[in-house]
Amino acid sequence: MPFTLFHYPFGYLASKIDKRLILSALLVGSVMPDIEVPILFLFFTGVVPDHLILHSLIGTLTIGLLLTVAVTKFIYPPLIGFLFKIDIEKLKEACRVTPWMILSCAFGLVLHIGVDYLHHWFNPLFWPWIDPFLLVGPLVSFFATLFATDIHTGFSIANGFTNITLLIVLFWIIRVNKEDRWNRLWLGT
Ligand SMILES: [Zn+2]
Repeated sequence: MPFTLFHYPFGYLASKIDKRLILSALLVGSVMPDIEVPILFLFFTGVVPDHLILHSLIGTLTIGLLLTVAVTKFIYPPLIGFLFKIDIEKLKEACRVTPWMILSCAFGLVLHIGVDYLHHWFNPLFWPWIDPFLLVGPLVSFFATLFATDIHTGFSIANGFTNITLLIVLFWIIRVNKEDRWNRLWLGT
């Protein structure tokens, strides 16, 4: 996975492309699937892969969506308000549950698993119908072919490539939002 927070740019850029999308909901959605990773890794290693339910379309658009809506409404405003000294009332207003807020949560979730798909060597996108290990990400295949190596090395290269690219974009986003930075980055104003 790209380091979970490196998913930030996708939510941010989506909110710039369509102004009706809600930044906070996109951001929470774009990190939410990875909460299953430590849980599956710690308690279910050897039983199931560490990316599964929340990285599948069916799981993310049901359980993931419910979690994302709840976290966006109840946790995002006080937490981000406290950490970045942003007006909590403004955050609460931005995090109200509306059709566009729910759509933004769903879009953030799908963006996350879509980005993961590109550079993961197994993908539970269509779990439980299609075996995750049959779905190799296109970047993994590309780098494995380019360097004439196996998919695990292809995955390491694809993962490094994705992380570095996203880190550069993240720095660029932080840099161009000099004025009123935290409001722009977390509230979207
Ligand atoms: Zn992920």
